[in-house]
Amino acid sequence: MATSKSPSVPTVKLLIDGQFIESTSGDWQDVINPATQEVLARVPMATPAELDAAVASAKAAFQSWRHTAIGTRTRIFLKYQQLIRENMDELAAILTAEQGKTLADAQGDVFRGLEVVEHASATGNLQMGEMANNVAAGVDTYTLLQPLGVCAGITPFNFPAMIPLWMFPMAIATGNTFVLKPSEQDPMVTMRLVELAMEAGVPPGVLNVVHGGRDVVNGICDHEDIKAVSFVGSTAVGTHVYQRATQAGKRAQCMMGAKNHSVVLPDAHREQTLNALAGSAFGAAGQRCMALPVVVLVGEADQWLDDLVAKAKTLTVNAGHEPDTDVGPLISRAALNRVTGLIETGVQEGARLLLDGRNPSVPGYPEGNFIGPTIFSQVTPEMSVYREELFGPVLCVLRVDTLEEAIALVNRNPNGNGTAIFTRSGAAARHFQEHIDVGQVGINVPIPVPVPLFSFTGSRGSKLGDLGPFGKQVITFYTQTKTVTARWFDEDPAAGAVNTTITLK
Ligand code: NAD
Repeated sequence: MATSKSPSVPTVKLLIDGQFIESTSGDWQDVINPATQEVLARVPMATPAELDAAVASAKAAFQSWRHTAIGTRTRIFLKYQQLIRENMDELAAILTAEQGKTLADAQGDVFRGLEVVEHASATGNLQMGEMANNVAAGVDTYTLLQPLGVCAGITPFNFPAMIPLWMFPMAIATGNTFVLKPSEQDPMVTMRLVELAMEAGVPPGVLNVVHGGRDVVNGICDHEDIKAVSFVGSTAVGTHVYQRATQAGKRAQCMMGAKNHSVVLPDAHREQTLNALAGSAFGAAGQRCMALPVVVLVGEADQWLDDLVAKAKTLTVNAGHEPDTDVGPLISRAALNRVTGLIETGVQEGARLLLDGRNPSVPGYPEGNFIGPTIFSQVTPEMSVYREELFGPVLCVLRVDTLEEAIALVNRNPNGNGTAIFTRSGAAARHFQEHIDVGQVGINVPIPVPVPLFSFTGSRGSKLGDLGPFGKQVITFYTQTKTVTARWFDEDPAAGAVNTTITLK
């Protein structure tokens, strides 16, 4: 990756011990606007000493933070959610500039994270133990959900607001301290959110940020003072992180890659379903882990194909900050080249290219990483376009005769992140819900990301670790249960015990 040497380009800071500081690293990477190739900032690959300093600060802060009253901790997140709301437009603009998604999608990215912050402000209701009275004569047993210590989070490029906010608010609200490693491709909105967290009152050391790539991530997995690692990103990296972190004795949860199928029955609401399919396959340029890049048309739903292509053609490809944009640029040149190459492979492997979005004309943005909506039909499960996670605005259409065949097809795919069924039949939807082996299931809902009252899930190749981020499950992830069995003796002077009855004066 080219690195700008211009001193006029701002640098992304580390956050260590409450101070936003310049890294001493000799290794920097450019943060690039994917619509224009403008270098927006330079981000450092933090040194091992900087990671050590961040962890040491978090470790020291934990000693007092763990004993801080629940109300004091959660009140910070009440203030934080207000600051995020007040700065929503600025956050969305930063996010669109560095990531490429439309301003509306950027606001959605921030908003879905904001919901987790709101949930963090109510953690007191969730971090409660249990008690059994008189488990033996005069004996009670109760549990305490105590924080683990220093926890760490590693986040991907595609939701640079939402996914960091899945992590540090819940970890901190439950009494842990945190080291965050944002995506090096778009760290700027994450840092603005971190600044707002500090403004809301997160104490020095409780939240720290280091930047970098593979070496910093490996350093986090290996660090003896980090107790838990939360990762969101690709399957290859997530599998590595899970193995490395758990071998080093840490708790780990890894939310990973996807290949989500929508199953369309012929009785589905036609217009609503076509809109949902186009929005979820091509929106955010297909760079959502919950996008629907595979459509399985069941029986006569096969006849919808022309309408689907027509719908895709109505979408506008342009820079994310331009009004009426539906499909923004891909994150990088490397991503553009990868997706373009996979489309070519799809053609060579015999899929039928119904709509070719390569090299779209985008006036004013000749350098952008654009690719328009692309649709393949006659796709088979052996083809690369089906097997690979494309992470671009490319839709693969398969057809089957029955719902059972569709369910079997979805369940054979190694990924199990999300899926959706479109139908007017309650019985068919319930059958699908019962038999599908996928973490998030939508019924006439294309991108069923759960609200933070629930946890994000995932099955098979899309997730490692038992517990998900946010929701009730993350309270378990970020705490350890201590079980206390207690006996208190009644004072009985006749039996020789000292009468310690306290007399209030
Ligand atoms: P990525 O795996 O390339 O990067 C994720 C993080 O890992 C980044 O912080 C990056 O710096 C770090 N990293 C990259 N290469 C590494 C290496 N070799 N060793 C150690 N660390 C490394 O993912 P991405 O491209 O940023 O994000 C897209 C991927 O994330 C897609 O696969 C998508 O499906 C997935 N994703 C999953 C979910 C989910 O909840 N399941 C949500 C969002 C994104």
